[in-house]
Amino acid sequence: MKKLILILLLLMPVVVTAQNFDKFFLDKTVRMNYIIAGNCQKTEIYLSKFLCNENWTGTKNHLIQKNEYGPFKLQISDKKSGEIIYTYTYSSLFFEWQMTEEALNVSKAFREAVKFPMPKNQAVIDFFKRDSLMRFQKVFSTDFDPSSKFIEKGNYQRFTVKNIIENGNPKEKYDLIFVPEGFTQNELTDFEKLAKEYAEKLFDYEPFKSQKDMFNIRIISAASEESGADIPNKNIWKNTIADFGYSVFDVDRYVMTENYWAVCDAASSAPWDGIIVLVNSDIYGGGGIYNYYGAFAAKNPMSIEIFVHEFGHLFAGLADEYESDGAFIEESNENYNYEPYEPNITTLKNFQSKWKDMVNAPIPTPKTQKYENAVGAFEGGNYQPKGFYRPSMHCIMRRLEDKMFCPVCKRAITDAVKYWSE
Ligand SMILES: [Zn+2]
Repeated sequence: MKKLILILLLLMPVVVTAQNFDKFFLDKTVRMNYIIAGNCQKTEIYLSKFLCNENWTGTKNHLIQKNEYGPFKLQISDKKSGEIIYTYTYSSLFFEWQMTEEALNVSKAFREAVKFPMPKNQAVIDFFKRDSLMRFQKVFSTDFDPSSKFIEKGNYQRFTVKNIIENGNPKEKYDLIFVPEGFTQNELTDFEKLAKEYAEKLFDYEPFKSQKDMFNIRIISAASEESGADIPNKNIWKNTIADFGYSVFDVDRYVMTENYWAVCDAASSAPWDGIIVLVNSDIYGGGGIYNYYGAFAAKNPMSIEIFVHEFGHLFAGLADEYESDGAFIEESNENYNYEPYEPNITTLKNFQSKWKDMVNAPIPTPKTQKYENAVGAFEGGNYQPKGFYRPSMHCIMRRLEDKMFCPVCKRAITDAVKYWSE
């Protein structure tokens, strides 16, 4: 019996519960701005600065994240005791760039940021990045002194904020903020109209529909100097608030910005857990990165589907379920020796950790009419035709026209709702 208890104790993770939030943290948010630099093989992080805002709107009950869906992990430890008091996983544009062909030949630097609750006492901040076998390896470490006079008390409340979906205290909800990009002062009413329309339409989709009361959505009146976004294919360059452009990684429809600091600065007029940027363009495009930000062209006939798809990436860490992208290097090896971290794709190396409990079809699942509505493992996904499997034949993470999430993506979204709202 004693042995069993010992084994159970050893298996138990360090869990920091709600009561511990007040023990370890103040009700404030720290944003760490940093530069991340390197190439396909190297990742280096350089601290820029810490900024502090009043109020922590993130989770107080899941300080140690259960679902680690991203390639990066921020970990905060109490310096004195060494106890891990906060973890947060996420992905980033730099990480995606590392998988492009360009990263084989050149080193680059991107501006990134991450938020965490203000530690009460001296702390240690560590950053980890997954290796090729998906194990976290440390890439950066620094001490953090909450009493340092160099923590900038950021006053970013510079834009008017409007609530468009309001369901309660930001501390108990997922707070999504819509940032206008490339809308001039005269076009802000246009932005507001579009934002209200998309905010409502998100909740036509399950499982958002039945959990609408867990979300707040706000907009800010942040005008750009010029209208539109950069379109390198047409030699169009605009002076806008967050410097978004098409053809990121030379994929025409990929609309993102490398300047995440500008995105965070704009969003910081309101409490936010997630940022969606509405780009003032009718050219098809968008992008979404887990716990980072999402964006979509706000005036395209497919805008709502693009938004919902990109929000799936941002909010729930969902992978693309389609096979080819054009941006990332296709693997020649189809026998993967690792399980990917995203909840809706598998290499079948550790299917148990994914949706095996939901399966009602043979594995791998034939792509025939018989299994059209089944949950299985259909080969092709995550930009690879072979070796990666997706849960379903129909899902908006594979094809926008499907206009629904598959059951596995729905479960991942519901898990994310719990994380942010419990
Ligand atoms: Zn799916």
